[in-house]
Amino acid sequence: MTASAPRRILHFIQGLARDGGSGRYGDVYDPATGQVQAQVALASADDVAVTVGAAQAAFPAWAATTPLHRARILFRYKALLEAHADEIAACISSEHGKVLADARGELTRGLEVVEFACGAPHLLKGEHSMNVGRDVDSWTEYAPLGVVAGITPFNFPCMVPMWMFPVALACGNTFILKPSERDPGTPMILARLLREAGLPDGVFNVVHGDKVAVDALLDDPRVQALSFVGSTPIAEYIYARGCARGKRVQALGGAKNHMVVLPDADLDGAAQALLGAGYGSAGERCMAISVAVCVGDATADALVARLKPLVEGLRIGPGCQGDPDMGPLVTGAHRDKVRAYVDQGVTEGAQLVVDGRGLRVAGAEQGFFLGGCLFDHVLPSMAIYREEIFGPVLCVVRVPDFGAALALVNAHEYGNGTAVFTRDGEAAREFAHRVEAGMVGINVPIPVPMAFHSFGGWKRSLFGPLHMHGPDGVRFYTRLKTITGRWPSGARATAEFVMPTMK
Ligand code: NAD
Repeated sequence: MTASAPRRILHFIQGLARDGGSGRYGDVYDPATGQVQAQVALASADDVAVTVGAAQAAFPAWAATTPLHRARILFRYKALLEAHADEIAACISSEHGKVLADARGELTRGLEVVEFACGAPHLLKGEHSMNVGRDVDSWTEYAPLGVVAGITPFNFPCMVPMWMFPVALACGNTFILKPSERDPGTPMILARLLREAGLPDGVFNVVHGDKVAVDALLDDPRVQALSFVGSTPIAEYIYARGCARGKRVQALGGAKNHMVVLPDADLDGAAQALLGAGYGSAGERCMAISVAVCVGDATADALVARLKPLVEGLRIGPGCQGDPDMGPLVTGAHRDKVRAYVDQGVTEGAQLVVDGRGLRVAGAEQGFFLGGCLFDHVLPSMAIYREEIFGPVLCVVRVPDFGAALALVNAHEYGNGTAVFTRDGEAAREFAHRVEAGMVGINVPIPVPMAFHSFGGWKRSLFGPLHMHGPDGVRFYTRLKTITGRWPSGARATAEFVMPTMK
């Protein structure tokens, strides 16, 4: 008996599912079982060119629609996303591995960007100055860029694309999404529902693939702007190559988010916060806390004593079954990489307080599981401190005082998010003001900004000047035009040879 061929996930170009011509496919796993559940088409450069052509052709008509019309499509889209929330969450969980409640949370955070983008008429309002000179007025307009593209990571297959395309579409651009090839199913649901909401064909397209597809998007002169979210080496590459081709680029990279715990903090609350922020989504979040910086040995001892039983007690299992705290990692290769970091931490001399390497999940032995790991006495020189692990591994670093904690956070190459836990308002204020990170939490472990603010890090966590969604998102996806006009038109109709000034 021959096994049936795996399901195929195709591109979505001009409203149609298309196989493309590359003949290349990538395996999509179910991380909870370790089995291949589908194959995704991997685009050739020609497939990308066809997709860009479709988006380019759709641009003039879409850009000519009113912002109100675009907002109404997005309102219908919001309702459709809510109606299909279970389907979306199940797809996220089955390809990524995260637990269903977490997948629903991811959808909610993406939906909030749709809600923000529904304000298109308001977001695109310009400024107006009357009488900048006699009978002369001046005003600004925000014009769309044209075809724009988004390249997204595996860890938020729903939310991260939605940081981008609702705002881009609301601003009048057409969009090409190149999602992660590891969990490509959810973007296809997002595309289908956009069409159902009334979005014209060609305005939103999905092209699947790997470096071949990304390079083709980077090099195509018809693509005006690129939004990227993923690891820092690729972000840096995308930024350099995209800018060299004259594109507008925002490229969000990796992270190593520190949570500073001061001696006066509510340590029970801090331990619970670390548990959720360190091990939620199996640590595969760019805003996960991966380092707890304890000020003073007494703080560290008390915090580790609280954390140890909590980490040992994590309920780990298939994300789609029951109500676990944490699911598997996304692929076997990634699980092995994370486990190798734990091995390295032990070799380097950190104290492994909780060792999750031996975890076996009954009935899911082939799944890509790894138990929660907790290290104490981690030093800044160790690889487990310096590098992004992107798994359920929390490192405790001990420092003598507040100044040393702040200096440690600021010395790290990444500056995505950070947090301070304290009851001291003055210390919290000082920390927020002086810390070098794009997003700061005060007694909030994962300070992801709401959709009407903008998301982004500092240092090697973001390449480019503008953050995502919120006001920065609107700026990123529009070009500013300033118009200066005179009525009546015939006034001062004599030639002027000096720099015009308004008198
Ligand atoms: P990744 O960098 O491997 O992949 C991201 C995207 O780049 C994918 O679409 C992938 O197909 C593409 N890509 C991969 N290699 C490429 C190459 N050589 N050339 C061109 N394109 C390439 O990242 P990932 O493993 O999917 O996601 C995890 C990473 O994303 C972590 O580092 C995490 O911190 C980061 N991340 C950052 C944020 C943020 O807001 N800063 C948010 C989510 C994830």
